[in-house]
Amino acid sequence: MSLLIVGTVAFDSIETPFGKAEKTVGGAATYIALSASAFTRKLGIVSVVGDDFPMTAIDEFHKRGIDTSGLQIERGKKSFYWSGRYHTDMNSRETLITELNVLADFQPVVPQSFRSADFLMLGNLTPAVQQQVMSQMTKRPKLIVMDTMDYWMKSMPRELAETISRVDVLTINDEEARLLSGEYSLVRAAQKIMKMGPKYLIIKKGEHGALLFYDKKVFFAPALPLEEVFDPTGAGDSFAGGFIGYLDKTNDTSFDNMKRAIIFGSAIASFCVEKFGILRLLELSAADLEERVQEFIDLVQFDISLE
Ligand code: AMP
Repeated sequence: MSLLIVGTVAFDSIETPFGKAEKTVGGAATYIALSASAFTRKLGIVSVVGDDFPMTAIDEFHKRGIDTSGLQIERGKKSFYWSGRYHTDMNSRETLITELNVLADFQPVVPQSFRSADFLMLGNLTPAVQQQVMSQMTKRPKLIVMDTMDYWMKSMPRELAETISRVDVLTINDEEARLLSGEYSLVRAAQKIMKMGPKYLIIKKGEHGALLFYDKKVFFAPALPLEEVFDPTGAGDSFAGGFIGYLDKTNDTSFDNMKRAIIFGSAIASFCVEKFGILRLLELSAADLEERVQEFIDLVQFDISLE
């Protein structure tokens, strides 16, 4: 199968109770692609960076089979820059700076070889760009998964609603689900959001796991209780990358397979938070992943027989 990913490729400055990282490589598409590459090797990115972006990072993409022909490099311009701070409660973060830079007037171009991709991941980025990417596809992908955030809900609600109406799966966190729907109860929020277009909704709850809603059904996947969470940046994107990477590998978009995909997504996200930025993802081996998925299985398995 083949997977196309759109999203930011960026510089991040991150502050957590454990330390600081200045101008480290990040961005939604970066985390998604690195995570998805643990499952599938026919994948590509559509994004934009300035000429300040390091070639070494692009080499890391290539090493993992990630096609960067859709990654535009704008001469004389700066890459998207985001800076955030976490307090002791690692579930909530404060955005300090968002500089759109090259993203401000980005015109995405989907490479010919990815226009009929089977799976499309619309990572967090301007809703209008997410739509332009959908419009350039020559055939409707089997599955379109979209991530977004409060920033776009507040600044471009109309464009965002239009984009949401065209996708199959939306992934957002609990606070964003409440903001988007105006409902506090996540069950009510899910019902409202699914009426906006997506058949499936994933609500991420940080260290409290994730919920998958479909029709009247709901599935819960825990997050692995970790001794130490070093930096939660990119956890949501890694989750999405693992989720869609697994679906692409198995080529099965049934609800039952999505449940498995959520566990794989959660497993990848649990690695991402162990080190600053993308560092842990770069070291990830197939054996690490297998062992971690087994921990997830052990965590939730129990025997009950009801009369
Ligand atoms: P996550 O922690 O999974 O929500 O994603 C963190 C990544 O999102 C960081 O690497 C940032 O570069 C990127 N990011 C932050 N704000 C935005 C935004 N407004 N649009 C797109 N990407 C963003």
